[in-house]
Amino acid sequence: MEKPNHLKAVLFDMDGVLFNSMPYHSIAWHEVMESHGLHLSREEAFLHEGRTGASTINIVYQRQFGCEADPELIRQLYEEKCQAFARFPEPEVMPGAADLLRKVKESGLQPVLVTGSGQHTLFNRLDHSFPGIFDREHMVTAYDVKYGKPHPEPYLMGLQKAGVKADEAVVVENAPLGVQAGVAAGIFTVAVNTGPIADQVLLDAGADLLLPSMQALCDRWEQLF
Ligand code: CA
Repeated sequence: MEKPNHLKAVLFDMDGVLFNSMPYHSIAWHEVMESHGLHLSREEAFLHEGRTGASTINIVYQRQFGCEADPELIRQLYEEKCQAFARFPEPEVMPGAADLLRKVKESGLQPVLVTGSGQHTLFNRLDHSFPGIFDREHMVTAYDVKYGKPHPEPYLMGLQKAGVKADEAVVVENAPLGVQAGVAAGIFTVAVNTGPIADQVLLDAGADLLLPSMQALCDRWEQLF
């Protein structure tokens, strides 16, 4: 994909991009799955990042039992996972994220949040951690979409909310499924590898540009865009 000539909006994923919340998510997933006899390692949890909870549960259940999980089990397991996540301390802001958001906002670009999360604690923290950056009209969350990432729907909805075309935006993502979603929406997609997965996994997902951290993206922002 070509870098946008007239950049107007930057679409940010949340977990693993703005907050360093993925280590907690992966532990919560691993422990709750194990308590139900389902096997999902912490490392594998990173690869499923961005999927809806139900879809993650179904993939693991099908692998072990060869059929779909009961909806009641899915509901219960996902609730337990959210409770387990909420017991962790508040995740740290990702180093470099606040500075990058400020640069984006000050240069007149529209920041948009595009997340598969439905975690209320994190939404409450957005305004506290990044004051004046995001407003509800420019957010796509688990409550807005029918299909989760890697489907392009969340990012297409992000473009719509910003009122811009695909070639007027960039996506910032840390997860392979999120990168796939951005690329499928036709948007120039920057991967920041803030977790334990190999760079090649993000490149194979279609990332147009790969950086080792949000700080690195922040430092190179003017040069890149
Ligand atoms: Ca993410």
